Amino acid sequence: MLLAFSAHLYLWRITVKLKFLLSAILGISLLGTALADDLDEIKKRGTLVVGVTSDPPFAQLDTKKQTYTGYDVDFAVAIAKQMGVKVLIKDISTADRIPKLQAKDVDVVIATLTKNAEREKLIDFSYGYFVTGQKFIVHKGKIKAIEDLTNATIGTISGSTSEKQLRREMPHAKVVLFPGPDQGFVALGKGEIDAFSTDEPILAGLYNKMPNKNDFEIPNASVSLEVYGIGMRKGEKRLVDEVNKIIVGMEQTGEASKIFERWFGPNSTIPLTRLFKINAK
Ligand code: GLU
Repeated sequence: MLLAFSAHLYLWRITVKLKFLLSAILGISLLGTALADDLDEIKKRGTLVVGVTSDPPFAQLDTKKQTYTGYDVDFAVAIAKQMGVKVLIKDISTADRIPKLQAKDVDVVIATLTKNAEREKLIDFSYGYFVTGQKFIVHKGKIKAIEDLTNATIGTISGSTSEKQLRREMPHAKVVLFPGPDQGFVALGKGEIDAFSTDEPILAGLYNKMPNKNDFEIPNASVSLEVYGIGMRKGEKRLVDEVNKIIVGMEQTGEASKIFERWFGPNSTIPLTRLFKINAK
């Protein structure tokens, strides 16, 4: 009886010790997971994986060199460099930007991504690093004012803020969706749509490459303000702080405006005026 009791006590002690050991191991490993956030993972991996969207001049593939170039790509390269890691560029569609980020396919998206309250429920953003507005491209002389497009067939990019705005502001227009702007321009050229609408520099980039660009125009009317932010997964505060620190630094050293000049300066194909600064607003 006594023997049975002490054997039981012995077993009980071992169980308690094992439980203690297990919880200690689990505790440590749980603590480990909690501490390893996206910034740690990027630094440990030694590579920043960036999602861009093929919207020239923000990102385009240089087919000869098989590398990406553009305003967004330059920000990706500069941020990775300052983090002390390599950069890996992944081309993702406009509609896939947030889903691919959430699925951990990329660490950040630098992809003409407008910051807005709806998206801020899903992901976190850096400070704005580019500001523009949504415009339209139409056949020259077809319309006098944007109101003339009230009942028109208008193309735009699936999953973009432009799509949302068109549906909200022009409920009588027929909205036709395209995966990217190139396909929209083809449809416009064929007369399948009356107008194509997205952010001004994306329109201007493709307009300048049109062989018959004199047949088209981009009326001087913005229908929205688009502030682009770098998208990161929700709750990754250390990564957001790091990215913000880097881009504010790029503003202060003049690197950010140099990148702007490279793609939108007077000698570029899309001359624009830089009416913004990157700051904590
Ligand atoms: N800036 C807009 C957005 O975030 C349009 C981007 C695009 O057309 O690629 O949805």
